Amino acid sequence: MSDDCLFCKIINGDIPADIVKQTESVCAFRDINPQANTHVLIIPKKHIASTRELNNENIEYLSKMAFLANQISEEEGINRNGYRWVINTGDDGGQTVDHIHLHLIGGRQMHWPPG
Ligand code: AMP
Ligand code: ZN
Repeated sequence: MSDDCLFCKIINGDIPADIVKQTESVCAFRDINPQANTHVLIIPKKHIASTRELNNENIEYLSKMAFLANQISEEEGINRNGYRWVINTGDDGGQTVDHIHLHLIGGRQMHWPPG
């Protein structure tokens, strides 16, 4: 855990969030500034700053995040029509919170290329 990390504070319950689902190792909550009807952030309960910090020791968190995202896409009713997963990394990637998070966005037509 990182003391000055917003998402670690959400995991600890120090900052409120609309939690959708969680397990022992991962947590999903609604984005405060949703970009579609469904916009859920899925994070590991361990502080991993970004995709750049993924390694042999912690890579399993990514599959657990993916598994939770799939469960939520079914529960949100967006599984059939489709959705988008996004992980922003670093400044050029547009990452604003330095705790790795998977955006699950759905409920409308997405466009390509992204902005
Ligand atoms: P990124 O820009 O990829 O780092 O995504 C960070 C996301 O966190 C943005 O979509 C924000 O809207 C969202 N966000 C920031 N603060 C909160 C919060 N307190 N609760 C829920 N989502 C948040
Ligand atoms: Zn953190």
